[in-house]
Amino acid sequence: MRCVSTRSPSGPSVTLSQAISLGLAPDGGLFVPATMPRLAAPATLPAYDTSLAAVAERCLTPFFEGEGLESPEGVAAPLASELRAICRAAFTFDAPLRALPREGRRLADGDADLLLELFHGPTAAFKDFGARFLAECLARLEAPGSSGSRRSRTILVATSGDTGAAVAAAFHGRPGFRVVVLYPDGRVSARQAHQLGAFGGNVHTFRVGGTFDDCQRLVKQAFGDATLTEALRLGSANSISLGRLLPQMAYYAKASLQPGGAGPLHVVVPTGNLGNAVACLWAKLLGFPIGDVVLATNANRVLPRFLETGLYEPRPSVATLANAMDVGAPSNLERLVYAFPESAALRAHVRADAVDDAGIEAAIRREWRRSGIALCPHTACGLEVLERLRAHGAAGRWAVAATAHPAKFDTVVEPLIGASVPAPPTLAALLARPSSAVPLAPDAEALRGALLGLSEP
Ligand SMILES: *Cc1c(COP(=O)(O)O)cnc(C)c1O
Repeated sequence: MRCVSTRSPSGPSVTLSQAISLGLAPDGGLFVPATMPRLAAPATLPAYDTSLAAVAERCLTPFFEGEGLESPEGVAAPLASELRAICRAAFTFDAPLRALPREGRRLADGDADLLLELFHGPTAAFKDFGARFLAECLARLEAPGSSGSRRSRTILVATSGDTGAAVAAAFHGRPGFRVVVLYPDGRVSARQAHQLGAFGGNVHTFRVGGTFDDCQRLVKQAFGDATLTEALRLGSANSISLGRLLPQMAYYAKASLQPGGAGPLHVVVPTGNLGNAVACLWAKLLGFPIGDVVLATNANRVLPRFLETGLYEPRPSVATLANAMDVGAPSNLERLVYAFPESAALRAHVRADAVDDAGIEAAIRREWRRSGIALCPHTACGLEVLERLRAHGAAGRWAVAATAHPAKFDTVVEPLIGASVPAPPTLAALLARPSSAVPLAPDAEALRGALLGLSEP
């Protein structure tokens, strides 16, 4: 499959392998498939294997097709023949769809409120799926001809809390790779901060005196610096990387195929940088029976405003309880607009609603009362939006993407529900380790110095 930049769709194209290696397109745009594939019969999966890994392989095959051939640039792109192995290695845990008990509430027959639990990976947030898939791809793209003398690749990643941990976990201890994580100091939960600094080894963690947007800007500036890119063999792992975005289609696809009612599965996606949302829309474009897609933001409402008015007005992010969605300039917006360039089509395919902190708290309390299920603050944004949709008469089966385990946000969730939320075992293991992060000023020169000062792993 050929990939083009959102900023020059008729410009030069690259192979998917190259797009995955490069991360960001050279013109500063985001890579997108030159043509979006459509599966002939997505609803017919092999009955003998309905695992997430198998669904992922099914979704991703058209994107990886031709990747075993010589590309016009003469570079062999080895990923197609490895796709099955990549999916099996990356998707080692499931994304179960769980029905929320709704006793006494009038949901019509066949209607259901569901949680699509995306937090059963090593760092307890959905980003494990994309990070692990990307790591498997990059490890294979590195392998040919990588002699012992080759310098290791540095994966530079900005995080609003969960990306950094997922990427660190996915590359931790992988020979030939080093991870540098930038997170906004004081703007991630205590457990997230601990997790980010707990890896050690080939993972270097910096706490930046600024916002997530500052971290993201620093990463962009570093990638724009040719000397730095070259010296560190910088690689990207943010949600701008196709290697993270594409595999995220798999859990929406699998959920949409799950029996349980007539009609398509409607989805609410808690949204920050729009990576998970674009993945859901792409799964729908692939042909999976996904109905309405509604995006839930926190009080950072750049996206709902944009969909309402057509005006894109990025602004500094404000801190909310759903910190992994504190984004004032959603980086995947270009992909959304690329998929639906006409504003009418965009609005027909995507709606968005914003939930402030009071709404988050109300949703966490309400769900606990109703079902005894604890939500993370991001998932709560989604549930609050679903509650509003139901109040306005939305029918059918609706799944809210549960993007993180509530135990990652214990200090928010536990006081609201008056109960403790035990950490899942992998999270508990990380929290038991010592943790450290180096402070960093939010400017490009400071990062440059820090990066060039790192020793070879
Ligand atoms: C990253 C993250 C989000 C937002 O996902 P995007 O792909 O950036 O829109 C939502 N919830 C949690 C828990 C996250 O870590």
